[in-house]
Amino acid sequence: MSDCLFCKIIAKEIPSKCVYEDDNVFAFRDISPQAPVHILVVPKEHIISVAELTTENSLVVSKCFEAIAMIAENEGLNQGFRVITNSGAGGGQTVFHLHFHLLGGKVFTDL
Ligand code: 5GP
Ligand code: ZN
Repeated sequence: MSDCLFCKIIAKEIPSKCVYEDDNVFAFRDISPQAPVHILVVPKEHIISVAELTTENSLVVSKCFEAIAMIAENEGLNQGFRVITNSGAGGGQTVFHLHFHLLGGKVFTDL
């Protein structure tokens, strides 16, 4: 998708602080961190959100979660971490390319 911010970051047309990359997944630090560790884990395939997942494209979700487990270990999040995905404007999504927020380095007390 030529006008998608995260597709441009994945293509390295826009710089990011990449922490992990493989054939299916790209992960980079959020520009506006909401926790000491705040990493966005993104499938390279342009999927808009969780609402657009199908049996044909959902394998990338498990690839993302395998990456999340590795990154969490690399980042030293042995006390735990949180994974969030927002779907649609009403769900708080602002970049319409599926992504998982990996948050850690603090204790989360709310939902
Ligand atoms: P959403 O609100 O869609 O769930 O999350 C989008 C996230 O992308 C936000 O946490 C926001 O800070 C992050 N973000 C927006 N633009 C950029 C950017 O240019 N670079 C990086 N690294 N993160 C961005
Ligand atoms: Zn995209």
